[in-house]
Amino acid sequence: MRKGEISFWWQEIGLPAPRRQLEGESEADVCIIGAGYTGLWTAHYLLAADPSLKVLIVERRFAGFGASGRNGGWLTGGFAWAHDRYAKDRGAGPVRAMVCAMQDTVAEVLRVAEAAGIDADICRTEEVMVATSPAQEARMQAEAAARASWGEAGRIRLIDATDLARRIRIPGARGAMVVSGVARIQPAKLVAGLARLVEAQGARIVEGTAVTALAPGLVTTDRGLIRARTILRCTEGFTAELPGHRRDWLPLNSAQIVTEPLPQAVWDKIGWAGNEILGDFAHAYCYCQRTREGRIAVGARGVPYRFGSAIDREGEPGDETIARLRAILARHFPDAAGARIDHAWCGVLGVPRDWCASLAFDPATRIGHAGGYVGVGVSTSNLAGRTLADLTLGRESALVRLPWVNRPVRRWEPEPGPPSRLARIGNWLTGR
Ligand SMILES: Cc1cc2nc3c(=O)[nH]c(=O)nc-3n(C[C@H](O)[C@H](O)[C@H](O)COP(=O)(O)OP(=O)(O)OC[C@H]3O[C@@H](n4cnc5c(N)ncnc54)[C@H](O)[C@@H]3O)c2cc1C
Repeated sequence: MRKGEISFWWQEIGLPAPRRQLEGESEADVCIIGAGYTGLWTAHYLLAADPSLKVLIVERRFAGFGASGRNGGWLTGGFAWAHDRYAKDRGAGPVRAMVCAMQDTVAEVLRVAEAAGIDADICRTEEVMVATSPAQEARMQAEAAARASWGEAGRIRLIDATDLARRIRIPGARGAMVVSGVARIQPAKLVAGLARLVEAQGARIVEGTAVTALAPGLVTTDRGLIRARTILRCTEGFTAELPGHRRDWLPLNSAQIVTEPLPQAVWDKIGWAGNEILGDFAHAYCYCQRTREGRIAVGARGVPYRFGSAIDREGEPGDETIARLRAILARHFPDAAGARIDHAWCGVLGVPRDWCASLAFDPATRIGHAGGYVGVGVSTSNLAGRTLADLTLGRESALVRLPWVNRPVRRWEPEPGPPSRLARIGNWLTGR
């Protein structure tokens, strides 16, 4: 079994050839920090609107090194938000607008991928969230009702155990929530394709270059200064490492394993012919996909929060995490329990104090950011890219009025020392 090495997705297509590092002082109209989906989508929409812009993307390792090259490949239009709490304070209208805008992201990602010829094993499908206990069933019903009330009624339905078994056979399943209008992707192929796309549009990506500080008009890196009128921080789960941002978002890990390609005899027993993205309503919920080659990828929050917001680099999960993921595989797919595990890896995601994503842009300093997606950023990063582009260009679009833009954000408390309250919360969040 390979462990870490960034992710299975990257090993499947081969790590990219390194791009050039920054060499000395540089200038740009817009400097984007971080070449994951957020940074790359932002560059794409900026250059689509104004091809004359000088856009420079600064990446510490390589484009797609972070969560964008490691995730579960669920493109769902879901996002991290406290609908009820927000509606109570500010009204239901903005929440509905955000839900609606997020649902558009799936079609928009597919549209751009198709137009740009990005082959990311994209499969339009449905999301199937399984309940395997009465408590999970109750959570499923509550979530389906809540999401329907916020404008998703047209794409959400509940199915019983018999209907589920016709599609996918999960032992002990009592039913499932089905969400239509989603897609499965190969995440590294998408991020690699986006990087090529923005370069073709005229953006410059420098890799192996770490940003160490930023101030209005000026980005400091370990390889020289960059002067830029607009600076956009797109560092998500790594943000805690930047000076002044240690407590913005808690870096939590999510981990995955992938089996060998399974023989047809096993698929005949499991079903799953529709390539649905599959999860459950367990507290430490899982997310699975059937890959293009007929492997099963299983993901879950597994690695605990690391003291001092320490961030894993190469994506190597611990043995305990791998054992927990194997147990989920065996529980949901006993016919695949004996399959060889080819790869295990993990990645970091940003969790804000209130578990709600945020995006900000200050027209005075012209510094902006987006992130804190709490592990549902594949679609949210697309909305972020379009919105950061509009804010940078001064466009008064409907996107810049969505409720996550420039919302007040509370930071995490300081970490006194192990075993800290923050570490305990982190471990609780990861199901420990
Ligand atoms: C294991 C896992 C599974 C997930 N599964 C899903 C899923 O199925 N569906 C879903 O919607 N979401 C999922 N997510 C979340 C999703 O992948 C992320 O929300 C999304 O990819 C974030 O994109 P980003 O561009 O904001 O951040 P990232 O992709 O993390 O990119 C940030 C980039 O910034 C760079 N960087 C950081 N600091 C600096 C610096 N100082 N200087 C220069 N560069 C820097 C990093 O190297 C990195 O490349 C998952 C996340 C993980 C970890």
